Amino acid sequence: MFMTRFIFITGGVVSSLGKGIASAALAALLQTRGYKIRLRKLDPYLNVDPGTMNPYQHGEVFITEDGAETDLDLGHYERFTDINTTREDNTTTGKIYSDVINRERRGDYLGTTVQVIPHITDAIKSTILANTEDFDFVIVEIGGTVGDIESLPFLESIRQLRNDLGMDRTLVMHLTLLPWIPSAGELKTKPTQHSVKELQNVGIQPQILLCRCDRPIPSAERQKIANFCNVKPEAVIAAQDIDTIYACPISYHTEGMDREILRYFRLPHVDPLNLSKWQNIVHALRYPKTEVTIAIVGKYTSLLDSYKSLHEALLHGGIAHKAKIHLEWIEAETLEKNPTQIHTLLSCAHGILVPGGFGERGIQGKMEAVRFARENNIPFLGICLGMQIAVIECARNLANIPEASSTEFDQTCEPLVGLMREWIHEDERLRRSENVQLGGTMRLGSYPAVLAEKSRVAKMYGTTTIRERHRHRYEVNIHYRSQLEKVGLIFSGLSPDGLLPEVVEYAHHPWFIAVQYHPELKSRPFAPHPLFAGFIGAALQQARPL
Ligand code: GLN
Repeated sequence: MFMTRFIFITGGVVSSLGKGIASAALAALLQTRGYKIRLRKLDPYLNVDPGTMNPYQHGEVFITEDGAETDLDLGHYERFTDINTTREDNTTTGKIYSDVINRERRGDYLGTTVQVIPHITDAIKSTILANTEDFDFVIVEIGGTVGDIESLPFLESIRQLRNDLGMDRTLVMHLTLLPWIPSAGELKTKPTQHSVKELQNVGIQPQILLCRCDRPIPSAERQKIANFCNVKPEAVIAAQDIDTIYACPISYHTEGMDREILRYFRLPHVDPLNLSKWQNIVHALRYPKTEVTIAIVGKYTSLLDSYKSLHEALLHGGIAHKAKIHLEWIEAETLEKNPTQIHTLLSCAHGILVPGGFGERGIQGKMEAVRFARENNIPFLGICLGMQIAVIECARNLANIPEASSTEFDQTCEPLVGLMREWIHEDERLRRSENVQLGGTMRLGSYPAVLAEKSRVAKMYGTTTIRERHRHRYEVNIHYRSQLEKVGLIFSGLSPDGLLPEVVEYAHHPWFIAVQYHPELKSRPFAPHPLFAGFIGAALQQARPL
């Protein structure tokens, strides 16, 4: 029997070095070698999940098929491996503590003092180990930076697990930074040394060091890191800055990452490895044949992490056409404050996209963007809130319902969009009242939808039954359907019971589609989502070839 091996990935020196991408790229390499992998992320904050956090705090909330609101790194895991993650694959300190405290109240620990060690660490260990038997490798990324107070229970659990499972079944890879100091003309190894010391202080010796740097590591520095950090020189892997994240599997492989890991586990590592799948993606990104500009009119445009999957899905749409994508991020409030600038800001775009979002801020600006796209025949894609706004815009400006609005923004006598009160989830009717708690109570995860035969969207998907991931509390009001269809806004996708609008398209326009779900979550670099490929294709019709 093949025993599951565990690879723990920790980070040191500073955050944002790309631990999520490193985990995902390593998984892709092991997958290419034929291994079955599972990826997990442990986050050291007290929220039970990131669903209630502002995107500025934590970036995008990634939704899994089974409806969990998770860390955006799970999006990278899915895009690199094409394996769907589940709610079991992202755990936070908040979730662990809340489970342990619930158990304590139930009386499960009767007679004992409940403590971080062993109760919290036991809970962490069982979360890491749960349902891993069928995998060759489980890659567990630890959020945060070594040395943070918050990470300690996670690190202690890893230390214990290495003893429980054995050193030959576990490995720690630590990601650090080698800064280039121009005045010294050197890549400095000291922060890496200190960071590894922090790990050693809590009883963990990493086997592989992945060192983020802006140039190759000279052999003297490599030797120095190896000596001071107690690893082999070959186990010091350079993670050099690179033009696209999709080149990481190739680059890490060239540096020997997968070879060193397999060597540690005494597993065969036959080379050359066929990485043509990744080479093709990188080639399409590096040598585009055309280019296109897409304007994204949103609310969190100053932090690109808030729209991570969207950004990637647009790139994938570009890969499908060998097109370079220029993204213009436009703050919706800017359009609101300067209505005269709408033309200047949007007319350079070959496609306009209004993404998902929450709350009232910037709504009017988004509405103007929809109108501009609709009236000027510019390809338009609306996602979730973007669809709700598109419907309201058409109601106001085409169907002559001036009061049309959403109950999310205000009380309204024309609720084109209203709070969802019940919906069907796998034959079960779920109900929500207005006063329900906010965490985890939206319509979340994968739901089926039925597309109208011969609709544009059905043609793009090549089928009339689809499944897509959702995250919304409000719905387009089906009672306005005939009024809107009369003016050309066709309801071309519905939930199977025919009650929840899922897709609308405007008939008198070259490409105007809006969807209630989040297609960006299911797009892959090697399998661009049909809606994004279609949107970029339509935008390209407006652009000139290079
Ligand atoms: N705020 C809207 C709702 O809750 C849209 C949500 C979204 O765009 N993800 O329905």
